Amino acid sequence: MKKILLQNASVVSSRGVTKKDVVCNSGLFGGKILQVVKAGSVKNFKGKILDCSREGIFLLPGLIDAHVHFREPGLTQKGDFATESRAALTGGITTVFDMPNTKPPTTTAKAFKKKLKLAKKKCLCDFKLFMAIVIDANGVDNLKEIKRVYKSKMLSKYLAGVKVYMAHSTGNLGPRNRIGGKKVESVFEPLERVLADKEIHDLPVTVHAEDPICIAQNISKFNPLKPATWSQARPKECAVLAVREACHLAKKYERKIHIAHISTREEALVVAKFKPLVTCEVSPHHLFFNTSMYGRFGKFLMVSPPVRSRSEVRDLWKTLYSGMIDVIASDHSPHTYKEKNTEMGMSGMPDIQTVLPMFLNEISKENFGLKDLVRMYCENPARIFGLKDRGFIQEGMKADLVIVDLKMKGMVWKESILYKCGWSNYAEKSLRGWPVEVIKNGIVIPHV
Ligand SMILES: [Zn+2]
Repeated sequence: MKKILLQNASVVSSRGVTKKDVVCNSGLFGGKILQVVKAGSVKNFKGKILDCSREGIFLLPGLIDAHVHFREPGLTQKGDFATESRAALTGGITTVFDMPNTKPPTTTAKAFKKKLKLAKKKCLCDFKLFMAIVIDANGVDNLKEIKRVYKSKMLSKYLAGVKVYMAHSTGNLGPRNRIGGKKVESVFEPLERVLADKEIHDLPVTVHAEDPICIAQNISKFNPLKPATWSQARPKECAVLAVREACHLAKKYERKIHIAHISTREEALVVAKFKPLVTCEVSPHHLFFNTSMYGRFGKFLMVSPPVRSRSEVRDLWKTLYSGMIDVIASDHSPHTYKEKNTEMGMSGMPDIQTVLPMFLNEISKENFGLKDLVRMYCENPARIFGLKDRGFIQEGMKADLVIVDLKMKGMVWKESILYKCGWSNYAEKSLRGWPVEVIKNGIVIPHV
């Protein structure tokens, strides 16, 4: 087996930066970190040597993105496992968790197996798959199906967890018969059923927390089909309400949950009261865009939950600086240019290739360091979702690594976007700080 030495590397963890020599072996399935020792102590090394000593160069664990939509099967006009995973790897992300709102949705063991087969064949980075909880018109849920996957030795290692949609999202996995319907009281029933089920007590649960009744009330006042009023039609009150209720349910059942893409400081403040039972994630679009940008981006800025006002975004950054946010996840949600441009609009934007450089560009001594990035994008996702073999640069861990150059300046060229949909709201941004080498299983990924 071939070996690789990362010499004189500034190794980043949530505790800080230390100078090390890192030795890995290479192999499509078995690349591991063999040694992490004092810089300069590895002598007479036989194998590939990468000199990491230059100023501005840092070594990070491969990023773990706990929230992506690669759109396969069924929505492959938007993206597929091959195209989107290539973009992810290029952006320094070596593990992804794919969301279940595909076609068919990942709600049965059969659908899970079908998606798994496709992902195994096509996905260039490591992956796990979420299943969604759904309740049909007769009140019957699919927990039996989720448990079939959970209990299967072959399948469970690929199961990321259960995704609970409170409000409607792409793929209609939200609660049924709610808006204007009768069963209004049971908006939180899918979540409650998951949390109450003791057989899956250690399966991670990720919640899309926006209250659909609250949204319905606001939609009657603000047009949700126009960019300018999209954020008002899904105001932060609806998110805060849902986060609070989800947290209370987590407490009631003494069960861990993870809140996806919080978009305001208020949501983080609610979550803070319920830690460590409840954790939360933030997505790049809620930090890098605000409502004043609808004029420029129009429908292409429509995401769920929507982007917030400039002052709310400023508060969200402060929340991130204060350490209250556990996880960064891209919520990479590609749609074709044509789909985004239709009158109806489609919620979501692609960002998995640019999320690391966007955050590297924000690295500062005062508020936000590489150690914070590693805590939120490597270590915490590994801990929260139970990945014991990655997220840290330590002996025995997977040899998934990213070398970044904080001094490198460059532009997000439109031509370099690898998404199948071919567009990015981050195009033409000028950034300082880029991933320069991505190492997967101890193998340096060739540049594209
Ligand atoms: Zn999502």
